[in-house]
Amino acid sequence: MSRFFSEKYSNLEAYTPGEQPKDMQYVKLNTNESPFPPSQKAQEYAAQAAQRLQLYCDPECTVLRKTFADTFGIDEDQVLFTNGSDDALNFAFMAFCDESHPAAFPDITYGFYPVFAELNHVPYEEIPLNEDFTINVDNYCGINKTIFIANPNAPTGIPLSLEDIKKILESNPDNVVVIDEAYVDFGTESAVGLINEYDNLLVTQTFSKSRSLAGGRLGMAIGNAALIRDLNTIKYSTNPYNINTMTQAAGTGTLLDDEYSRRNCAVIAENRAYLTERLEKLGFIHTPSTANFVFAKHPELDGGELYRKLKERGVLIRHFTKERIKDYNRITVGTKEQLDILLNKIGEILEEAK
Ligand code: PMP
Repeated sequence: MSRFFSEKYSNLEAYTPGEQPKDMQYVKLNTNESPFPPSQKAQEYAAQAAQRLQLYCDPECTVLRKTFADTFGIDEDQVLFTNGSDDALNFAFMAFCDESHPAAFPDITYGFYPVFAELNHVPYEEIPLNEDFTINVDNYCGINKTIFIANPNAPTGIPLSLEDIKKILESNPDNVVVIDEAYVDFGTESAVGLINEYDNLLVTQTFSKSRSLAGGRLGMAIGNAALIRDLNTIKYSTNPYNINTMTQAAGTGTLLDDEYSRRNCAVIAENRAYLTERLEKLGFIHTPSTANFVFAKHPELDGGELYRKLKERGVLIRHFTKERIKDYNRITVGTKEQLDILLNKIGEILEEAK
């Protein structure tokens, strides 16, 4: 820290993103990216857009917004595009949390929530998940806090039903409830259909996972037009040009080729079933994931050791050091070929450990 760094951030512990090492070619199953390339249309649209890079991008994302609204049957003023959904989540912390609206989220969830809370000087409560990592909905009813719930949750992949989400929304009518749907497209029911019914519901989604655009950085917040206006106030007060021209075009191309993304999600769901079945045969236990990752532990293998030994063998998975989950690893569901390499290496490691 330099002597110039503002004291207001002196306790800030930055988020640690998953590693993106360039020292060798890994089988990369650590940051929940899609193993499939962006849609052909996305690539073509982005290449065409590159010819206009001398001009500022459209701060209103007009074409992208219209295409999204048409595809998903919402109004254009019910969606805001952001630089990845991390940007939308940060905006939500800025817009809807303060001393009188503290944040609340599970103790085991996306690690960026407490960082956004600290960054924005928002008090927050981490509500413990049940022993089996499910959410106890009663813990979120009538708590009068701005609630952040990843659905399905990360890194467990466990979904929450719309009935439970409705209970939380109805019992906290004066607070915003943010449902982070980064992984919704791999088999969880979306809450987007509820935005006209609940003016306190904000849903965030991303193009990073199911739509193969992690490097393009495109996310969105979907909700009541008044909530979206508030987020726009934050956006126009920080970085109005937060989504570059190529990414806007890639996003539009992706949406016009929605069938491609949906087919890929179906393959990932199939591969998830394959991976969990094979892991079970090797003695692993895992949470019931509806995401594009599996959260698993082996009774005879230390979580950190498995991560390190796989990395030595060229396979990257994600290990978290937090006490409650340190025995587990989060494994992104890749192609069958990638999963077979992973499973073979795990087999070797288990043999060695005998
Ligand atoms: N929410 C959750 C639960 C995530 O795991 C991630 C990915 N790290 C994000 C949001 C943010 O993803 P992105 O900014 O790429 O949209």
